[in-house]
Amino acid sequence: MIKADYPVAIITGASRGIGAAIALLLARRKYKICINYNKNQLAAQDIVQQIEKIGGAAIAVQADVADEEQIVRMFSVVDQKLGQINALVNNAGILFPQTSVEHLTAARVNQILQTNVTGTIICCREAIKRMAYKNGGIGGSIVNISSRAAVLGSPHEYVDYAASKGAIDTITTGLALELADQGIRVNAVRPGIIYTEMHASGGEANRVERLKSKIPMQRGGYPNEVAEAVYWLLSEKASFTTGTFIDVAGGR
Ligand code: NAP
Repeated sequence: MIKADYPVAIITGASRGIGAAIALLLARRKYKICINYNKNQLAAQDIVQQIEKIGGAAIAVQADVADEEQIVRMFSVVDQKLGQINALVNNAGILFPQTSVEHLTAARVNQILQTNVTGTIICCREAIKRMAYKNGGIGGSIVNISSRAAVLGSPHEYVDYAASKGAIDTITTGLALELADQGIRVNAVRPGIIYTEMHASGGEANRVERLKSKIPMQRGGYPNEVAEAVYWLLSEKASFTTGTFIDVAGGR
C-alpha cells in the first residue's frame, strides 16, 4: 500500500480528456489518484507516468462503469493499493453519433443510461460505504461531471445523452441532501463545449470549431478549465458548499 498521508481520489474515465486533466491537476495538488479507464490502457498508463514524473502517486485501474461488479472490484483495488478514499469524481461518460429522437433505439438509450447514470450511482454507493460517518468513515467529497446539455437538451444531436446529464443533476441534488450530515459534500460541474475526443464519438470531431461562434466568449473550453472547478469543489475551500452546480461553459 502507498502510505496514506495525502487524500485519495478515484476519477472515472481519467485516461483521456477532462478526466485526465482532473487527474493531473489533483496529482499536482498532492492527491493520490486512481485513473479509471475502460478500454484505453496505454493512455491510462501514460497519465500514470506523467503523474509519477512530477513526484505524484497514481494507479490505473480498468473497470467498465456500466458493470456493477467491475466497479466493486475497482474500489477494492483502491482500498488495497491507495488506502481510504476521500474523493470521487464521476467523470466517465459516453455519447453516440448525432441524431434526432425519432431515430433512437432502446439499446442505444439504455447503454448511455447504464454508463452515465447507473455507473455514477453505483460508484457513489461504493464511496458512501467508505466515507460516510455512519459507516465509520471520515467524510469526503463527490463531484459529478454533468453537462450544459442537461439544461439545453441537445436537440437533433443527442437528447438521450442530455437526459442522462439531467439525471446526474437530480442525483447530485438528492444525494447532497442524503449525505449532508454524513461528512460528504456532493456537487456537480456542468462543462459547455470542451476540446476533447468526445465530439468524434458523436461523429463530428470538429464540433467545437463549428459551434464556437455561438458561445458568448467566442471559443471552446479546455479540459484544465473544467479541472480547476472540480478541484475547488473537492477541496476544503468549498467546505460549506453542497448540492450546487458550477457551469464552465463560456456563458452558453
Ligand atoms: P472523452 O474524451 O471521450 O473521454 C472519455 C473518458 O471516459 C475516457 O477516459 C474513457 O476511457 C472513459 N470511459 C468511457 N466509457 C467508460 C466506461 N464505460 N467505463 C469507464 N470509463 C469509460 O470524454 P470527455 O469529453 O473528457 O468527457 C468527460 C466527461 O465530461 C463526460 O461525462 C462528458 O459527458 C462530460 N462533458 C464533456 C463535454 C465536452 O465538450 N467534451 C461537455 C460537457 C460534459 P477509455 O480511454 O478507456 O475509452
